[in-house]
Order: sequence, then structure tokens, then C-alpha cells
Amino acid sequence: MPQDDRTPRPARRDTLRFLTATGAALAAAPLARAQTAPATPATPAAASGAMAMNGSGFYRQKIGDMTLTTVSDGTAPLAALLPTWGANPDRQAEFAATLAEYSVPATNTVNHFNPVLLEIGGKRILIDTGRGGASGQLVANLRRAGIEPDTISVVFITHGHGDHIGGLTTNGKPTFANAQHMINEAEFNFWVTQANPNDAVKNNLIGLKDKFKLLKSGEEIVPGVLTVATPGHTAGHHSVLAQSGGQSALILGDAGGHFLISLKHEGAYVGFDTDGAQAARTRQEIFARITDGKLWVTGYHFPFPAIGHLRRLAPGSFEYEPTVWNWS
Ligand SMILES: [Zn+2]
Repeated sequence: MPQDDRTPRPARRDTLRFLTATGAALAAAPLARAQTAPATPATPAAASGAMAMNGSGFYRQKIGDMTLTTVSDGTAPLAALLPTWGANPDRQAEFAATLAEYSVPATNTVNHFNPVLLEIGGKRILIDTGRGGASGQLVANLRRAGIEPDTISVVFITHGHGDHIGGLTTNGKPTFANAQHMINEAEFNFWVTQANPNDAVKNNLIGLKDKFKLLKSGEEIVPGVLTVATPGHTAGHHSVLAQSGGQSALILGDAGGHFLISLKHEGAYVGFDTDGAQAARTRQEIFARITDGKLWVTGYHFPFPAIGHLRRLAPGSFEYEPTVWNWS
């Protein structure tokens, strides 16, 4: 089947809603505990019978003079990885074979959500905000890292999907009260001019429109941190390139797609890419740039801690190398 036979947009939005709604119900109980817990490791939850968490929900990496921290927003149950994360209808067997080859579970698995915090030049820049509501664990995990939401200087949004903007508000108020909010101009205008915007857009983009600074493509967020056009997942999707001390990191957002299928298989697209063919082309370009430049990379839906490097397996085919864990 050609790529034009992808599921039409409304169904894709339903998929996205499903990704967040399912997680909300199942994650609510341990979350209530996490949100009121002090900034301590999660082991006490295990003793009380709640879901035990492996690690503290954040991971710091020094890159040049900046610190990049991936901060988990938690996970949501995912019954089947395919076809959502490799949606080409005529390539399902090929994708399933890759999952099996790498021993990546194809069913009864989870979606990951990994916002990124950059600390550079005395500023704290948060890139994407997770799902918010009952399922969002970003703020609890920021606090575990010792970071209060009102100390965030800038929030940059890669694109307007609910799992990236949902954490911008908490009970109708801005979560990051002192932050300058930023997003690409075209991406913002696409979402806020919808005839029937969804609740996430109403609450977090339209409701906060006076807080947003709208950026041109390629514009600087702060010195050393630039937006990079990565269209396809949404038309105005922008990733972030951060540079310090001769090193660079590309924070992909959803231009990363799936950490295995999108990288290995040229032309693969994700079920909720707005334009699958364009998203696949963009991924090829950005993966090549990251590989050739030996950049650090983070992917929003990559498995936590969602940071590492890329290497080329063959022309058009890449592999994600998760970072070698460091303890400082
Ligand atoms: Zn996403």
C-alpha cells in the first residue's frame, strides 16, 4: 500500500488521545503519591506496595559548559508498538523482524515521554512539558532533580501535540510561572486557528497565548541554543540545537520518531506524523547531520534516559547508541 493510504488525520489525533488517556487512568494512583512526595528516591513507594520506580526520573549529562538533563514525564501503557511506531502498511513484517532482532517487546510495552532541561549561561530552558494532568510526572521528577518549576527561565515547545504541551498548565494556571514561553510561529498559528481546538490546545496554547513569544525558523532561544526546522511530524515542528564548549546536542522532539524503527528503516513513518513522507525525509536529514557531526542526541519518545549518539549502519540506515551511564 502506498504511503498516501495512511490513516487520515482525525484518526491519528484519536491515536494520540488514546496514548495519553490510557496512561492517565493507570498512572493516576502512583502519581498522586509522586506529586506530593519530597525530593527523595522512589524506594519508599515500593515498601508501601505502590509501583516501584527504577531510578529517580532524571538523568544529567554535562556537554561542554552546559548541563542537559532528561526529565521523564513517566510512561503510558502501549498494547502494541506496531503499527503506531512504524505505520507503513506494507512494511509491518520488516519492522516486526527488527523489533525481534533487537529483543524490543512489540506488545504489552510502554510509551516514554522525555522532556529536556538545558542549563546554559545561567538560564534554565525546558523543552516540552509532558502530558500534564493526572498522568504527568514532569514536575515531580524536576523536583527530584532539585529544580522548582518557578526557576525555569524559558519553556520551548517543539510542537502542539498534547503529550508535549499538556504540562504547560496545572489546574488552569501556568506551571512555569516565571518562564518566557516560546514556540515556532507557524506551529503556534496552526493550532490556535483550528475551528475546533482540542482541550490541550485550548488550555495550554490559546489560554497562554499572551505568554508566548513566537519564533521564526532557526531563531535563537538563548545564546548557543537554536531552533531547527524539522517538519513532517507536524508542519511547524522544530527541534533544538544546543552548543557549548565545542560540543553540540540535538534535542529532536518527535523528529526522532521511534528509537529503532525510524532510525533503521529509511522511509518509515509514525502513525501520528501529519505528513509521513515528509517526516521520513526530515529524519534522514537530521539523523545524517547528527551522525556526521558526532552530536549528542535526545528523542522525546526514546526509552529513558533517551540520550546518546547515532551511528550509520548502511546508507540511509542508522542506529541509536544509548549513552554509557555516568554517575555524576
Ligand atoms: Zn510526542
